[in-house]
Amino acid sequence: METKKDNLVLINDYHTHSVFSHGVGTVLDNAIVAKEKGLNELGICEHGPRHASGLKNADDFKKLKQACIEAENQTGVKVLCGIESNVLDKNGNCDFKDKIESLDYVAVGMHCKVKTKPSFFWYLFFRRKIFPNTKKQIKKNTQVILNVIEKNKKYVDIFTHPTRQFKTDIVKVAKAMKEADILFELNTRSCNITEDEIKKIAETGVKFIIGSDAHRPSRVGELTEKVEPLLKHIDKSQIVTKIEPKLLKLKNMEN
Ligand SMILES: [Zn+2]
Ligand SMILES: [Zn+2]
Repeated sequence: METKKDNLVLINDYHTHSVFSHGVGTVLDNAIVAKEKGLNELGICEHGPRHASGLKNADDFKKLKQACIEAENQTGVKVLCGIESNVLDKNGNCDFKDKIESLDYVAVGMHCKVKTKPSFFWYLFFRRKIFPNTKKQIKKNTQVILNVIEKNKKYVDIFTHPTRQFKTDIVKVAKAMKEADILFELNTRSCNITEDEIKKIAETGVKFIIGSDAHRPSRVGELTEKVEPLLKHIDKSQIVTKIEPKLLKLKNMEN
């Protein structure tokens, strides 16, 4: 993993939040810090509408896109507009489809504080609290994520913090991501992957992206000790540090 200045700064960071959702800095604040830290590109990847702090409608995403353009003009840092969409049910439906007009890319992640179908809410509740890690549950959880990938692979570029919320067969999930051309995020804010696990995940050939999930400007581009020790087990060629426009699925659809 090449890093700029020192080992604790990312080259680019495509997972940050702003005041548009529950971040504490503006889009411009994030871009200014990105510039100070020497990043070339920044992603504002805001929560989808079903999240308690999510942007509510397509109009909000238009405003976000406008803020990204302005921040880019003021700082010279390329600022992409993204959504961190939510999983809404066991079939893998997510909440991004009518927002794509303003978006440069789509990320998907499992979150709590999301208004889901009641059946899915209780599913998640029981899997987290009552019997989280039995073999049978892990199999069911894995199927949910596989459904998300299968249903949305045409649009989704990144799966954020894939090991958060509930336990899955993460190697199986990584294989599906590789086949669907979805980047496996190593989230520097919350990552519970062990060194043994990362070796097996990397063996699938899946490509990784590192995201800070910064909710405050000072954390933009930050690489932490939660992720840094894992990087020695991943071939450099498997870590995407810059998302080429030609690889963004929405952009390709427009062409
Ligand atoms: Zn998230
Ligand atoms: Zn996030």
